Order: sequence, then structure tokens, then C-alpha cells
Amino acid sequence: MANYWRLTYEKKIYLYDTYTKKTREFIPLSEDEVDIYYCGPTVYNYVHLGNFRPTVTFDLLTRFLTEIGYEVKCVSNYTDIDDKIIKEAQKEHKTEKELSSFYINAYEDCLNKLNILPLYNHPKASEYIDKMADFIQAMIDNNTAYKTKDDIYFRVSKIEDYGVLSNQKIDDLEAGKRIDVNSQKENPLDFALWKLTDDDGIKFDTILGRGRPGWHTECVVMVNNVFHKPLIDIHGGGFDLKFPHHENEIAQSEAINHTHLANYWMHVGFLLTNGIKMSKSLGNSILAKDVLERFSGNAVRLFFLSTHYRAPINYTEENLQQAEKQFSRYYQTINKAVHQLELHELTPQNLRQSDYDEFMDALAHDLNVSNSLAVIDRMTKELNSLLMKKEKDYAQISSLCFTYQKLLNILGFKLDISHLTETDKEMFALYQEARNRKDYETSDKYRSHLIELGII
Ligand SMILES: [Zn+2]
Repeated sequence: MANYWRLTYEKKIYLYDTYTKKTREFIPLSEDEVDIYYCGPTVYNYVHLGNFRPTVTFDLLTRFLTEIGYEVKCVSNYTDIDDKIIKEAQKEHKTEKELSSFYINAYEDCLNKLNILPLYNHPKASEYIDKMADFIQAMIDNNTAYKTKDDIYFRVSKIEDYGVLSNQKIDDLEAGKRIDVNSQKENPLDFALWKLTDDDGIKFDTILGRGRPGWHTECVVMVNNVFHKPLIDIHGGGFDLKFPHHENEIAQSEAINHTHLANYWMHVGFLLTNGIKMSKSLGNSILAKDVLERFSGNAVRLFFLSTHYRAPINYTEENLQQAEKQFSRYYQTINKAVHQLELHELTPQNLRQSDYDEFMDALAHDLNVSNSLAVIDRMTKELNSLLMKKEKDYAQISSLCFTYQKLLNILGFKLDISHLTETDKEMFALYQEARNRKDYETSDKYRSHLIELGII
């Protein structure tokens, strides 16, 4: 079944690649497998809601590609080595590991609520220190990195197309930066790969000397080592990671592997509050865990999906309420349809090919979820009107219900549909009996429960 769509149709998939700034046909490196890596959180506090926009986007991409028949290996990391973590751990009198474990748990609780598929791997930077040291040593050996008294830096001048991803010219970048007096950098654009230090923060003894890695090296080394490949299909993250983070990941990959690290780069738009980017430093952030206490994971997912992943999306209480209402309409529709079928010992079956194709085609065009949601909305109306008819067409209901459920699953919604119990069915029989003998007092007793089940 998983291969159904791909085998029936030879349709193409298109993704917008931020490296070439073009919508390109998506052709994976291997025929059956797709590798995706997106940058995960630095685990030093509770993350704000915007952090989950890339998560939901790449979860959708994983589900879509899996539906087509690919084996998708989706990976996201935890940055658990970082100066912010050290600072926060010292403040809270905890070790860095205690602090990061605590916030990883909190993060994973949100992943569960959002119904994010288990990742192929969820590497922590701290688990790859020796690999990072080897990687940096290789850059020193080939002259793309250099050691100063305190740090090891990447030599940006060695990379010809530095700045392509973020669409910046080296000259402009250089003009905008000045070496501060204390820096031992050769060039203001050079970035730190390893901090040589014996301070109170977490540090490691490696071939490079005592210290800790820089963030940009962490990700590129995790990508190489988790996939065991110098080049993967898709690398993604929030828009703000393009520069310097992803630009610097690419530079290191070029220095060692002569690749751009990924064949397609995907960047997800910002979450705004009152038109301004949500960020911790601006003090306008709303914690994901708080939102997920007040709204269902399905509503938050629908809120994110309702705007194209590259466009900015505005957080308001009303937008979330609207998404909650909308999802509840989907849920009630499917629940009703399943119960009405069960009442007649029927199950949802038979795919409605035309709806399915239209829905998949929309996703195949750079995840155009708005168009795929338009299919869902149309089906919601149709299913509800079929359910309201006196003479019901159960074959139609069954196939529409089957398809509807399948499409909602591809969008990643969690559908905990209850099933009719024997008691429910008996109650329905008693209700009908009472009505037939015009005993409305008795039938009224069952009414509210049966309405709730959607069978009257
Ligand atoms: Zn990263």
C-alpha cells in the first residue's frame, strides 16, 4: 500500500532549494531512501513555540515521502554543548548534563503532544566529541583551519563560494565586520571551530587539546557520522540558521568532503507575534509547553500547517482557537462517519483516488498544504452532507471516510477514534424501538448519548 501512489503515478516532487534559490525537482541520491537532517534546539531552557515550526514541517515531509514509498531517515540533533548551557547550569548549580537532560525531557514531551514521528536518530553533540576533534584536525592538516593561542578557527578565504547560501558576497561581509582588538583571527569572517580552554565549563581532552567544539562543527560532524555519508538529500532548519550556521556547515563540508553537505537546503519561515519575529532575546516568546497545555497538539499542528512553511506565520490566541475549532470539526466528522458505519457492521474502505491524487499533488509542490487542506475541507462538507441524508449511501460514506482518515494521517494528526460498544448499539436499538411505539419519554433518555456518538 505504501508504494501505491508512486507505482500508479509517475508524478514528480518539487522542493524549493534555498541554496540555488529555485524550486527544483526532488531526486534523492538513492532510489529508495531519503535522508533529512534539521537543526535541533540548544537545550538550556524551555523552547518557544517557533522552534517547533521546522519540526512539524519536516515531520510532514517525512510522512509525505514515506507515503510515496521512500524509506525516510529523518534526523535532528540536540545541541547539548554550548556556552549558554554552561552559563545556565552554573546559575542553577547543576552540571551541564543535568540541565540539558531536563530540557531534553521537556522538549520530548512537546514532540509527543505534537505527534511527531520517532526520528531515525536524535544525536547529542556531546556524543561526537572525538569525531569533531578528528574532523577539525583534518582541517588543520589541509590548511583550511588554524590554531591560535585560545581557539581554532576556520579559514574562510579557502572557500570560494562562501556566502552563496545566504546570498552574501565575501567583500560585503568583510566590510561589515571588524576584528576586535583582542582577536587572533586572520580574517573577521573566520569562525571558531574549537575553544581551547580550561575554564569552569564542560570541556574535553582531545587530540586538539583541552576545550570544547563550536556549534557549526557539531552539526556537520553529526550529519556525516549519523548517515555515514559526505552528502545527504535534505538539510533544513529555521530561516535564521542560514547565516552563519548553515553557511559555516557548508564551508566545513567543502573543506573536508568537497560537498555542499546536502543536495537540497530547506528553510522554514518565522513565527511572528504581533508582526515581530518570536525570539527569546526580544522577550516576546511564548513557550511551546504553555501553548500545548492550553491547546491540543492537533490544533497547534493545524495552525502551523495552515500557512506555507516558507511564509511567516502570525501567532495570535484567535488563530490557535480557530485551529482548535477547525480540527474539532474534522474529528467530529470522522467520528460520526465511523460510528454510522459500525452501526451497520461496516468499516471504512476503498480509496477515493481523485481526492487522494489532488491532495498528494498539492504536497508534491513544495508542500503546498493550503491546497491539500482545501481537499480536506471539501471532503468534510461532502461527508457531513452524506451523513445527514435520510437514505444513506454507505458505500460512498465508507470510501470517503477511508480516504479522509488516510489524508488526515498523512498530515500527521492524531485521530483517537472511539469505537461503538455493544452497549451503544443496544441503546440505539432501544431508542428506535421506543420511537416506533411513540414512547418519546424513553427515547429521549438515550438521545444525548446517541447524538454525542453521531449516530442520530
Ligand atoms: Zn545545525
